[in-house]
Amino acid sequence: MTIFERRESQVRSYCRTFDAVFDRAIGSTMYDENGRAYIDFFAGAGSLNYGHNHPLLKQALLDYLNGDHVVHTLDLYTRAKRTFLERFESVILKPRCMDYRVMFTGPTGTNAVEAALKLARKVTGRKGVVAFTNSFHGMTLGSLAVTGNRMKRAGAGLPLNHADSAPFDGYFGQDVDTLDQLQQVLDDGSAGWDLPAAFIVETVQGEGGVNVAQDTWLQRLAQIAKDRGILLIVDDIQVGCGRTGPFFSFESAGIEPDLVTLSKSLSGFGLPMAITLIRPELDIWEPGEHNGTFRGHNPAFVTAAASLAFWETDQLSQKVTTDGAHISARLDQMMAQSDGLISDVRGRGMIWGMEFKKPDLAANVSRMAFEQGLIIETSGAESQVLKLLPPLTINRDTLDLGLRIIESCLASLLVSPMLTASTGGHS
Ligand SMILES: *Cc1c(COP(=O)(O)O)cnc(C)c1O
Repeated sequence: MTIFERRESQVRSYCRTFDAVFDRAIGSTMYDENGRAYIDFFAGAGSLNYGHNHPLLKQALLDYLNGDHVVHTLDLYTRAKRTFLERFESVILKPRCMDYRVMFTGPTGTNAVEAALKLARKVTGRKGVVAFTNSFHGMTLGSLAVTGNRMKRAGAGLPLNHADSAPFDGYFGQDVDTLDQLQQVLDDGSAGWDLPAAFIVETVQGEGGVNVAQDTWLQRLAQIAKDRGILLIVDDIQVGCGRTGPFFSFESAGIEPDLVTLSKSLSGFGLPMAITLIRPELDIWEPGEHNGTFRGHNPAFVTAAASLAFWETDQLSQKVTTDGAHISARLDQMMAQSDGLISDVRGRGMIWGMEFKKPDLAANVSRMAFEQGLIIETSGAESQVLKLLPPLTINRDTLDLGLRIIESCLASLLVSPMLTASTGGHS
């Protein structure tokens, strides 16, 4: 029995699927302790948009540490924090004509979500928050209350209150505009709904199965919120920081959320860091009303500031669009040749999902792919969606190598006798 099996809690999860002991990583490739290489199509669930150990970010971090600069400072003013804020203002906010206060929350995504929910309730004086089917916003109580997954919700061991779930875009198929229903219950004084403090939405649902909200749907949601004094929270933790092309995933929709949460790839280097962006007039916190020991970790500020170099030109953004179109075309090809095993291919930028008719098959492909040296996760209510989340900086050769592994796994599924028996005779 390994030390992991002997000592680490049963709660461990990803390591069960990707059962190797990892040691080194460069760019889009990870190596286990035996030196075996794996192409990384998981990228820390979207925390490594610029790949592993990017030289620019690594150098900035090494220089910072070598100079004995401060590492932990609670939320004291530091040069590292100033540089991050100045860079965030000049590279991200100003060019987009955005005006947000930056709140440093605890260092993980769910901390940023909790802060957004708290503030929305404080600002509006209302309790309820509307989230959407298949949403994922984190594992602490407030975030879990606005998360869809039944198994994860059950882990709370408590009733999860003050949250309602409304159907996400496309939940009833493309012919139904789910916002008709939401608008109706909000405006019907007898529908059993109190006016909520906020809507919280992912523009592309990462954990929920790569469900993509159309820009028109997001625009209408923003309008419904605005007309009724409901705050709009966009949780951009997984699909922000360039995952869909632009820095923020909601830029193409042209909406102006009241609150935005960012984390995963924000530090750029895989260091823990999270922020909640707040429209200035909503920033009514009392000093210290929301607090935390690790708000503002200076090494993360350093790599986050350095990573904004990727956003000084539109080069990376364009690469995401081009590579995204390539991924989309290759996945469509695979679906066409899948003899009906794959029911849908969807995504935006460089987050793509391949949905299988039989849920187990996504996990089968993930397992087979790992054996062939590709790390790729599943998502969705029944883990029925194979999720592609390569680093945005991946080169075309490595991307194609990974795609070919997926293709070869699908090919072996198609000739697998087990599959033929269990689906009642494909092919
Ligand atoms: C990962 C994620 C979170 C939670 O972040 P943690 O760092 O795991 O707490 C919240 N929202 C979305 C959309 C996420 O993908």
